[in-house]
Amino acid sequence: MIEPLVERAQRGDAAALEELLGQVAPSVRRFGMRMCRNPADADDALQDTLLGIATHLGEFAGRSSFTSWVFTLTRTACARRRRGMKNRPAESDDQLALHADVAAGPEERVSDGELAEALGTALASLSEEHSEVIHLRDVEGLTAAEAADALGITVDALKSRLHRARAAMRDALQPLLEPRAMPRREGCPDVVSLWSRKLEGELDAKVCADIEAHIAVCPACGSACSSLRRALGACRSAGQEPVDAALQERIRGAVKSILARNLIS
Ligand SMILES: [Zn+2]
Repeated sequence: MIEPLVERAQRGDAAALEELLGQVAPSVRRFGMRMCRNPADADDALQDTLLGIATHLGEFAGRSSFTSWVFTLTRTACARRRRGMKNRPAESDDQLALHADVAAGPEERVSDGELAEALGTALASLSEEHSEVIHLRDVEGLTAAEAADALGITVDALKSRLHRARAAMRDALQPLLEPRAMPRREGCPDVVSLWSRKLEGELDAKVCADIEAHIAVCPACGSACSSLRRALGACRSAGQEPVDAALQERIRGAVKSILARNLIS
């Protein structure tokens, strides 16, 4: 639980602040990497976010969740860095096509490693709006309410954006996950979006049962749903990936320098 740590840090407990910064840093760095799209800017955004937490923690009133607040700071830091670079093309389509080629052989199964790599490329190819909503909800595991807070939108808006984003993610991964996808038949429901709504608890039991019945007999929709499920599983794994040693070192350095600056001011 992060909240008791927040309270202790707010009361001026330096050890609690250090622990708090250390705990949030890996998620901040991952989200920064997604939003800034290059390691140097992600490192800067990490510094800014940790500094923002250390400096403004006293003003954090708990109206949103602490996690939402932290991601808001990171978004702002990345937006500052990326201003003027908006039209830089995403460099991902070729790579994705490459993966699709590799996996196109009959019976060939996509390994988790391949999928993880392709997922990074796929998320980078999505619009910023879609990429960030998936990152917060499906990679970092924020609740819909927390993610909505971090993005400054309503929960309803968050959910509809999420459904579109997940569909776009599945489309981007389709060449890899469903190299020989069958066309949907006339009258097939929009199963990917429906499945996403089911995950967000927006469908009643009858509708859920109907979709599952359709998926069971329709290979095209079954394959679409299973590729979405596989993609979401890869998102969760990406959010739990252990931080590598070099990154850990950078995070430690960032926390230390923030604490030193904070003690001086
Ligand atoms: Zn169907």
